Formats: sequence, C-alpha cells, structure tokens
Amino acid sequence: MKTRRRVLKDLGVGAGALALSPFTARAADTARAADTARAARSRVVIIGGGFAGASCARQLRIIAQDVDVTLIEPSTTFTACPFSNLVVGGLRRLSQQQFSYRGVEAAGIRVVHRRAVDVDPVAKRVRLDDGVDLFYDRLVMAPGIELIWDALEGYDEAASNRMPHAWQAGTQTLLLRDQLQAIPNGGLVVMAAPASPYRCPPGPYERASLIAAYLKREKPRSKLLVLDAKDNFSKKPLFMQAWQRLYGDLLEWRGVSDGAAVTSVDPGKMTLRTDFDEFKADVANVIPPQRAGMIARRAGLTDASGWCPIRPLTFESRLAESIHVIGDAAIANAMPKSAYAANAQAGLCAQQVARLLADKPPLETKLSNACYSYVSQDHAISVAGVYQPDDTAWQAIDGGTSALDAPDAVRRMEAGYADEWFRGITSQVFG
Ligand code: FAD
Repeated sequence: MKTRRRVLKDLGVGAGALALSPFTARAADTARAADTARAARSRVVIIGGGFAGASCARQLRIIAQDVDVTLIEPSTTFTACPFSNLVVGGLRRLSQQQFSYRGVEAAGIRVVHRRAVDVDPVAKRVRLDDGVDLFYDRLVMAPGIELIWDALEGYDEAASNRMPHAWQAGTQTLLLRDQLQAIPNGGLVVMAAPASPYRCPPGPYERASLIAAYLKREKPRSKLLVLDAKDNFSKKPLFMQAWQRLYGDLLEWRGVSDGAAVTSVDPGKMTLRTDFDEFKADVANVIPPQRAGMIARRAGLTDASGWCPIRPLTFESRLAESIHVIGDAAIANAMPKSAYAANAQAGLCAQQVARLLADKPPLETKLSNACYSYVSQDHAISVAGVYQPDDTAWQAIDGGTSALDAPDAVRRMEAGYADEWFRGITSQVFG
C-alpha cells in the first residue's frame, strides 16, 4: 500500500497543500524536492477526463514528450452521452457506453482520480478534494456541464429522481429507460427541452425520435409531447420530416411560440406547467438549463452567461492567464457543444499548449464538426460544419445537413457512419 507521502510525491505535490495538512517539516521537504525535480519539465494539468480533457491529455502526450501531463478525473469509469439515447430507447446497454482510463494511463498519462475543488490562477495551483495541491505551467479546463437546479421552478436534484434529465449519462439514463418500460400502453410521455445554449443541440430531438420509436414498437397507444423553450433547433426540417413519416400523431412537438416553454414542474403530481397549460405525465423527461462545470466557475473562468469566454485560436481563457478551456464549458460560438467538437478542440488545444510552452507562435487552422442523430433504430441524419477562428469568435464558414427526402438506404448508411464515428472516437480517446 502506498503511504500518503508516497502518493504526494507521485503527484508532485506542492507546498500549498502542506500548509493545510498535518505534515512534518521532513515530509514537506520531500514533497518540495519532488516538485522541484518535476519543475524541470513543463507541467500541464488537465481537469476533466471526458471527450475534451482525456483527448487533450493523449494528444499532448504524443506531441510533447518532454511535458509532464496530469489528468484529474473523479470517476474511474467514463460514461459517454453520445448514443445514450439508444439506451433510453431500449436499443443498447449502458455498459456499451462505459470506458475505463486504463488506455489513457497506458499512454503514459498520470491520471489522478480525485475532484478538483479549487484553482488559484496566480499561484498556478489546483487543489484536489483530498487537500493535495498540483502546480501547473498551463492548465486545461474541461469539466463539461453543470445542470442549473431550480432554473425551472420545482426542478431540483431530488426532482430529477422522479423526472429524470438523463443529460449526464449513467444512472439517470437507466432511470428514464426503466420509467418508459413501465409506462402503460396509452400513457403520456412529456419532454421539456431547454433554450440554447446547451450540451448537444440535436440531442433532445434524437431522444424524442428514439422514445417515439420505443412507444411505437411496444406501447403504440401512448403519446410523446415535446415542450420546447425555443422555436428552432438543429436539423429541424429533417427531424420533422422523419417524425411525420415514422411516428405520425404519436409524437407532437410544440415550440415557444405555441406557448410551450415549461416554467415549473411538480414532481409529486408529475405535472409540467407552461404559461398556458398544465400537463400530467406518466413519464417526464426534463432537460434543464446548463452552464459550465462548477470548477470553471470557482476558478473565475465564467462570465455572466455561465460559460467560459476564450481566445478562439488558443482556447486561452479571457479571464485568467495560462488556463485554456475546451469542450462544453467553453464559449466556442458557432461550434456546437458536442463530443466531436470537444475532441477537435482538444487536438488543437494540445498543439497550442505545446507550442506556447516552447515559445512558438500558435498554429493557424480551422476545425470541423459532424453530429449524427438517430431518427429510428436504424436511420440517422447528420449536420456538419467547418469553423475558423478570428480575434473574437469561432465563425462557421461552411456546413450542411443530410438531404431532405433522402431514400431509406441513405438514412441507413448514415446510421452506419454514426456507429463507426462512435467506435472511432471512443477508441481514440479511451482505447
Ligand atoms: P464531458 O464529456 O462531460 O467530460 C467532463 C468530465 O469532467 C467528466 O468526466 C467529469 O467527471 C469531469 N469533471 C467535472 N468536474 C470536475 C472536477 N471538478 N474535477 C475533475 N473532473 C471533473 N456529441 C456528439 O458529438 N455526438 C453525439 O451523438 C452526441 N450525443 C449526445 C447525446 C446526449 C443525450 C447528450 C446529453 C450529449 C450528446 N453529445 C453528443 C454531446 C457530448 O456528450 C458532449 O458535448 C461531450 O461529452 C463534451 O465533452 P466534455 O469533455 O466537454 O464534457
């Protein structure tokens, strides 16, 4: 078993933690010596082992072998959100969404399974939930999202046990799936979709499709009502066409202009209220408003929007030096909050961090994104875009979606592409 001193030494612990901890002066000297030894190499600390953070760690490890890379992630298993709507729809097991960090560790990255609880951007120090401090030359912040409880009146964490959001994959995904499987034939499912920006713009509509597919298959007298806090959404004409063709009256979508934005919920009564109506649901899937993961806020990296403003080309925070923000937490403007985009940003951020540490100018480049959405068990549609950074923003310079009216064979082919994309990205990041 490792002693605490040994663990601290392995972590390159700094003097800040020791001031808080009951260590002897000798332990402090040992830890300081370890820290000094490491300081000969540049230190990059990455917070968050999701599609952005784990990917950035791996790419940095490859391109900057002289850099000490530490990834902080509390969970020992990553549960991916992409394809989790297939789990909700009873078409996939949750275990197919889960990945360990063995591949990341085998790639030579130090993975610390703790939660980062504080960042001192002046001392360039991250504090972990066990009181240990890690020092960095550059910090990459990739904590994903936090759900904003009580933004919808009545919707707090306890309410999510009756009305799951399933917007962070895991037990919530299974809860929503199980509730759907228990619904009577003829029951009402109500989904509440949030206003933008939020994680995965087409995600609620892929979910609506796969819930409708389940109801059509297993409980055909049931109905799905989607209450949306906006009028437009990603791939809307394609989704609407697919819904009309595949699900008819079983799926009804209402937008904010129809007065459909949910303003409050009562999990005890299983009701959702808008300005004009109240709906009693057998199953309610409430996707609440979101913001950057809490540690980004604690680090002072968020603005009034709740997200993190960045300098587009390098992903450096506009609010703190030597900190980069990537993935869902960042304001990447036209780039959507997707795993595809997070992974693309991670690759570029790794390049920029390596170059900045080596006193080289940042790389000028463009990034792309593609998001597949299932509209049924074996049909999918997609949207793709190309983005270019200027001084203020990531601007969309090209893009498009699948064709309307495409034959079934094309939709099936896209479902195949989606499957290959998921296998590719997860093996690249976690394999
Ligand atoms: P995450 O993947 O959430 O990773 C963040 C990590 O940070 C987590 O592991 C978390 O534990 C860790 N963390 C948080 N706080 C701390 C802390 N204080 N200390 C240490 N670690 C911390 N995208 C696509 O491209 N294609 C899709 O088909 C797709 N489908 C989706 C379907 C659904 C239902 C949903 C909800 C999302 C979907 N997405 C899809 C979006 C995708 O899941 C996110 O955009 C992506 O996960 C963002 O990556 P990230 O690394 O920023 O955040």
